Amino acid sequence: MAYEIKGLNEECGLFGVWHHSNAAATTFDGLHSLQHRGQEGAGILTHEGANLHRVRGLGLLAEVFSDPEKIKSLPGNGAIGHVRYATAGNHGLENIQPMLFNDSRFGAFGLAHNGNLTNAVALRRLLATKGVAFQASSDSELLGDLITKEPTDNFIEAVKAALTVVRGGFAYLVMTPNCLVAALDPNGFRPLVMGTLPDGGTVICSETCALDQVGATYLRDIEPGEMVIVSDAGIRFERYTQATNLTVCAMEYIYFARPDSVIRGVSVHEARQRMGATLAREQPVEADVVLGVPNSSLSAATGYAKASGLPYDLGMIKNQYVARTFIEPTQARRDRGVAMKLAVVRSVVANKRVVLVDDSMVRGTTCRHIVRLLKQAGAKEVHVRIASPVLKFPCFYGIDIQTTAELIGANHSVAEMTTIIGADSLEFLSVKGLVDAIGLPATNQYHGLCTAYFDGHYPTPLYDYQETFDAEAEKLGLYKGV
Ligand code: SF4
Repeated sequence: MAYEIKGLNEECGLFGVWHHSNAAATTFDGLHSLQHRGQEGAGILTHEGANLHRVRGLGLLAEVFSDPEKIKSLPGNGAIGHVRYATAGNHGLENIQPMLFNDSRFGAFGLAHNGNLTNAVALRRLLATKGVAFQASSDSELLGDLITKEPTDNFIEAVKAALTVVRGGFAYLVMTPNCLVAALDPNGFRPLVMGTLPDGGTVICSETCALDQVGATYLRDIEPGEMVIVSDAGIRFERYTQATNLTVCAMEYIYFARPDSVIRGVSVHEARQRMGATLAREQPVEADVVLGVPNSSLSAATGYAKASGLPYDLGMIKNQYVARTFIEPTQARRDRGVAMKLAVVRSVVANKRVVLVDDSMVRGTTCRHIVRLLKQAGAKEVHVRIASPVLKFPCFYGIDIQTTAELIGANHSVAEMTTIIGADSLEFLSVKGLVDAIGLPATNQYHGLCTAYFDGHYPTPLYDYQETFDAEAEKLGLYKGV
């Protein structure tokens, strides 16, 4: 699990299937390959005739479904599933998805959400005045509450109208006994793809690695502002808005997505290799060996090694078998997590000048620990190269860093950071280098990417967050460097 190592957390994974005889088991398999997107809780909701059935729980998917009877208790040929990492709301069971709306005026429906709404506070206030009794504290149920309040008898029209009210980063799966609906926000911050199973069933999920896992053939990415309605009558594509502006979250390519996934035609592994290669050209250093921090930095490290002509070696080992208790994102836990998860191969680094490639630097604690491990193992010099730009700004679209106080790059110069982590040198990839390495077509001024974490160019208004952000940016003088 990346969680303990990075201190930067993925923000949920979605998997939905329709018209498939083994819906719950297939959803379990699909979610298993999306576990990297959230380890806090998991759930599956199925439909069998007019009935919806749900199992959800705290912990890893395999823990939640450790009793085989649980999958058996989910009959039916349609399902939606979710793995959660909390970006909003507390860590209790009530926030584990899919959310279930049992007695709405449309009948029962369920909902799963990946992302973060930027107008959740305002929506909660509005819905409270309309008498909504909330099930949970996260922003994920708000779309469901909005759907139930829309003044129409047509469920799809109600979903469509509700989608025009929510703001921010979101990918949704909504399921009734009659249909599966998928929708993506107007900026397409999060990946969402669809595919076909050999028996004709349709799958919609967060990443293509989940399609591969269940043997589905990739059909296409869901477009920003698009709604896909899958029912026994077929598949319908609709737009709930024309006002779209593609800005895929750059962190999906840098760190969140699995390297075997493809997002909007770009292989995540290959994008990371190009980031490493560009970094080698932008920030060369005389050294003997290149190492990557396992596992998410290995693609970038091999790219750096190839472009620099330096040998790549397996200098760090990740222990996959660390016992896991419930996630509590505290600094103490993060420090402990690093110590338990990484080890250095002494013979690879002893008496060598090492280039250590990492995909990103959030708080710097992981990096400091790794540099110390490498030096204890006899490395002569440790040159840290980060295959993404300096993280300076908070994210409001679905990552759990919403204050700059947590970001080492927002509070220190590169020289100060070098001293803090104890490295011999430290350099970062440029924003331009990142954008070019990912290489999405330049259809707008953002080159199809959100890079707000690095440059503060938020591609949407911040709504609930604007005041907080302004005050903080002012305090830290963040606007000066932009
Ligand atoms: S601010 Fe950063 S993490 Fe958030 S959506 Fe943009 S690129 Fe992704």
